[in-house]
Amino acid sequence: DEASGEVLSASRDIFAMDTYMTVEAYGDHCQEAVDQAEEEILRLDQMLSTGSISSEISKLNQDGYGTVSRDTFYLIQRSLELYQETDGAFNIAVYPVMRAWGFTDQNYKVPDETELKKLISDMDLTGVVLDEKTYRVQLANDEMEIDLGGIAKGYTSSRIMDIFKSCKVESGMVSLGGNVQLYGAKADGSSWRVAIEDPNNLSGYAGILEAKNRAVITSGGYERYFEQDGKEYHHIIDPKTGYPADNGLKSVTIVSADGTLADGLSTSLFIMGKDRALEFWQAHSEEFDAVLIMEDGSIYITEGIENDFQTEQKSVIVRK
Ligand code: ADP
Repeated sequence: DEASGEVLSASRDIFAMDTYMTVEAYGDHCQEAVDQAEEEILRLDQMLSTGSISSEISKLNQDGYGTVSRDTFYLIQRSLELYQETDGAFNIAVYPVMRAWGFTDQNYKVPDETELKKLISDMDLTGVVLDEKTYRVQLANDEMEIDLGGIAKGYTSSRIMDIFKSCKVESGMVSLGGNVQLYGAKADGSSWRVAIEDPNNLSGYAGILEAKNRAVITSGGYERYFEQDGKEYHHIIDPKTGYPADNGLKSVTIVSADGTLADGLSTSLFIMGKDRALEFWQAHSEEFDAVLIMEDGSIYITEGIENDFQTEQKSVIVRK
């Protein structure tokens, strides 16, 4: 405490959005910041969850239209931008496909191809109508249902950064199921050190990333999947096929000051595959950096984090 000259700290473990979360804050008002962060997580979870029939998203999906809160409106808007920028790799209308695979209720099965073809034909987001004045959303067709699971946690972590800022804590960290966002430097002034999981060896890690004021968000097929007839099927869907993305990439970590963007792009670049992902980075290198880990163990990192990523693995390629 203050009397002993130690930095005040507070931390909290929360289970929400289907995952374990930790919030930590340091400095004056850290307790207040952690309390507010927990409230915010629970509020957003209730609002955005497709699993609860009374959430805003579920109501929108049932009715096909509706007036939503500012947060939901903002997330749909950002998702539509990402849909355009990623050439359709990021597509929040993926919910019916998630359901067909059983990812919504753990009733896993491989759907038949005709069913998937039909479902992806209803996923054209260009038909969604947004009214910025009233926050009214109109989905593109009766079949369309949206799922913000590819972006909601990143948005939540960026909202917690806003809380840290308004509470004037010195530094803080939130980890939402392994997706991390960092506020400031650590209490001793040094950078945070974030372990990047090794998707090819889950008991170890692929490297350590040093960062301040950044979101570090990973998407990988190894996080949520099932097996049928000796084949693994994971939960990140290529909207062009309706099947889980399968392109040699095992995980994508995005490093960005914008948590919402980082979350959306980790899903998108995972779907694009290495070559398209690196091209996309070259066109947007001001906005983010990335660590790509391949099935064969090779690692690609982008120039901006060259000096911040430490690994003992031999095959690291730096993309400039
Ligand atoms: P996690 O939530 O496990 O960290 P991701 O951030 O990679 O994983 O998001 C995966 C989630 O994103 C899926 O559970 C699903 O809700 C949603 N999703 C799957 N495919 C797509 C896609 N092509 N575009 C947008 N969202 C997707």
